[in-house]
Amino acid sequence: MEEFPTTEERIVEPRLQQDEEQIDYTLRPQRLCDFVGQMHIKEPLSISIEAAKQRKEPIEHVLMYGNPGLGKTTLATIISKEMGANIRVTAGPALHRVGDLAAILSNLSHGDVLFIDEIHRMNTAIEEILYTAMEDFAIDIIVGKGPAARTLRMPVEKFTLIGATTKLNLLSSPLRDRFGHVYHLNFYDTPDIQSILERNSALLEIDLHQQAASLISERARRTPRVANRLLRRIRDYAQVKGNGIIDVSAATQALTMLRVDQYGLDTVDRRILQVILGTFKGGPVGLSTLAAAIAEEVETLEHIYEPFLLQLGMIERTPRGRKITDFGAHHISV
Ligand code: ADP
Repeated sequence: MEEFPTTEERIVEPRLQQDEEQIDYTLRPQRLCDFVGQMHIKEPLSISIEAAKQRKEPIEHVLMYGNPGLGKTTLATIISKEMGANIRVTAGPALHRVGDLAAILSNLSHGDVLFIDEIHRMNTAIEEILYTAMEDFAIDIIVGKGPAARTLRMPVEKFTLIGATTKLNLLSSPLRDRFGHVYHLNFYDTPDIQSILERNSALLEIDLHQQAASLISERARRTPRVANRLLRRIRDYAQVKGNGIIDVSAATQALTMLRVDQYGLDTVDRRILQVILGTFKGGPVGLSTLAAAIAEEVETLEHIYEPFLLQLGMIERTPRGRKITDFGAHHISV
């Protein structure tokens, strides 16, 4: 039986994988002008940054949402750099107690950026501390217990909160409403992914032919992190099996070995399509039935595999379940 990669092993997985932090950091553009694409964000953002700098004020709180690997952390770092500010990075799940956040907030200096990744994963008590911090630049701390308990208001320096989330719908509306800017990061166009590949191959001193960059960009699931990972794996292949140069032939051979097809689908994606088409006669099939049939968890199917297949128009959601489209059926049949 064919073995399928786990989500951690997937070459086309958009989330950060183990040991990738350093390379992700190295490839991160430092300035807004180096950040490729997302013009609908870059233009208003650059004006807001300029205006805030002229007024010598921190920029208003920013919320960014979109799939993993599209550049939310990168943009947060760029905003802090452009503002000439320090950035403090944390994540929703890392904040266990109210005191964790209170300590971070009270240590911020004027104008600092606080970046909270996965901001939808904070508990309510912590979220409430954030409300007053964002709005009034103060935190309310309860001291004492029982009838003797009282609230102490402590001021914090004026800062900018940048929140990132992949699930905007899980954010409470009081929290969402406190952000001055809300930006949605879109999937990238293929030429944008190609520019990212060309920029990064220069940074990593990889000899990447233009046509090969174009070929890889079509298979990178419109996601910079996937593009960067493919580039590194193809470089390894070209180095060991060829002369180190990534031309169309080396790229094609490497992608075949990695089992990434011309739309960027891997074995698991193709299996999903095959199961809907074969076992369920094209659908509709309910999410949990489909998950059981491919031996995956519903959550993983819904949030990791399905979005890209929907994006490509290979499957569709109907009130009675998932259906394969003509395009999906054609792709899997050839
Ligand atoms: P997210 O926080 O949305 O998961 P990151 O900001 O960590 O994504 O980006 C993942 C990788 O993709 C980083 O290494 C970064 O260099 C690269 N990247 C993301 N967006 C862009 C972009 N617009 N231009 C160039 N590189 C990008």
